[in-house]
Amino acid sequence: MTPNQPAGKVVIFEDKEKVSAFGNAIKQFDRASKILNLTPNQVALSKEPRKIMEAMLPVRMDDGRIETFRAFRVQHSIARGPAKGGVRFHPDVNLDEVKALAFWMTYKCAVVGIPMGGAKGGVVVDPRKLSIGELERLSRRYFAEMISLFGPDRDVPAPDVNTNPQIMAWFMDTYSMHYGDYIPAVVTGKPLALGGSQGRNTATAQGMVYVVRQAAKHLNWDLPNRSVAIQGFGNAGSFAALLLSKIGCRIKAISDIDGAFHNDSGIDPEKAIEFVRLNGSLKDFHLTGHAEKIDNPLELLELPVDILIPAALENQITHENAARVKARLIAECANGPCTPEADDILDSNGVVVVPDILCNAGGVTVSYLEWVQNRMGYYWKEKRVQKDLKEIMDNSFWAVVDIARQYNVNMRTAAFIVGIKRVIEASELRGLYA
Ligand code: GLU
Repeated sequence: MTPNQPAGKVVIFEDKEKVSAFGNAIKQFDRASKILNLTPNQVALSKEPRKIMEAMLPVRMDDGRIETFRAFRVQHSIARGPAKGGVRFHPDVNLDEVKALAFWMTYKCAVVGIPMGGAKGGVVVDPRKLSIGELERLSRRYFAEMISLFGPDRDVPAPDVNTNPQIMAWFMDTYSMHYGDYIPAVVTGKPLALGGSQGRNTATAQGMVYVVRQAAKHLNWDLPNRSVAIQGFGNAGSFAALLLSKIGCRIKAISDIDGAFHNDSGIDPEKAIEFVRLNGSLKDFHLTGHAEKIDNPLELLELPVDILIPAALENQITHENAARVKARLIAECANGPCTPEADDILDSNGVVVVPDILCNAGGVTVSYLEWVQNRMGYYWKEKRVQKDLKEIMDNSFWAVVDIARQYNVNMRTAAFIVGIKRVIEASELRGLYA
């Protein structure tokens, strides 16, 4: 993206082989914005990020060498409140992706009505190759390098793919040391001992379960005994398996970066979680006898199950495999797992997709509750957090269903209509459109 690129014009990721996540995000936006008849100025301001920072982070490795890591923070919008969104550590991180993820955060916060904007960060790194000391130095350097962007009223990071409460604690400490104050509200997803919130660890999966329960009512389904396949076994995917099995669903397949595993009579998520705790990943999980290995991990997406939960990365269900999806309900725990072309195919096959900006909003919702508690200095019990989370997720689900009915659109476009309206209203009141 060159600085004098006209606002609103989308630059598709240069590598033609790769799908542009930001290009896809814009296609999703356009479907809703056409219905809303937005002005060109409104469209331009609602699409492009307000601020992008890119940095090279020099980090001393354990053997004494300095290695540099490319890093990003994109603030998409602060129209409705401080920018909000996670930081991802992954070797495939790139600016196009981080822009898309920041964009989705803006509309996610708006759909669930929490008073925050959208942002995302990323570091190009495979954290599995770092020692704990290297990981700490990289995390602190990231926060220090971008420090002018962050602040409880400016931009509040959180965990995302391959980042966790320990990394949030290092972020928070780096910021607090810089200003000489204890400033927990600068980051969410912190450990409980450091101003974290009850329920934050399970929030993304729990929010999805609340929404799926409403979706089941909407579809006239009984949830117990429904079969589920879950792609991804990180924070979202592993708790999704656990919480869904607790309400009687059968988890038929799970996967992570090291393989996919299937058992028609059901996988015990506790066994899989314990296996990952001991071994670092699901690699060789089939050797325990709890499941069989699926040769091609992408086949997990095409298994004959009732509910499919993509909980890994973007662009997993595309024009190539969407027609082979057999699930009747897709609950997007990941951000951007279905491309717009896949959406069209899924729509025409009658597959209901609960979109990411609604389905996985439980994470940022409890992040918001954590931020509120940090600012009050008073901490709620788990029951209070769950009550608020459930109410927010249930109400948001039905608000999106109402709009879907009203405009005769799918749930993704309906969610964008809800989100865009709220962002535009706030921007208008602030005087952003002439
Ligand atoms: N990374 C999560 C997401 O994509 C959580 C963001 C947050 O809590 O700020 O929604």
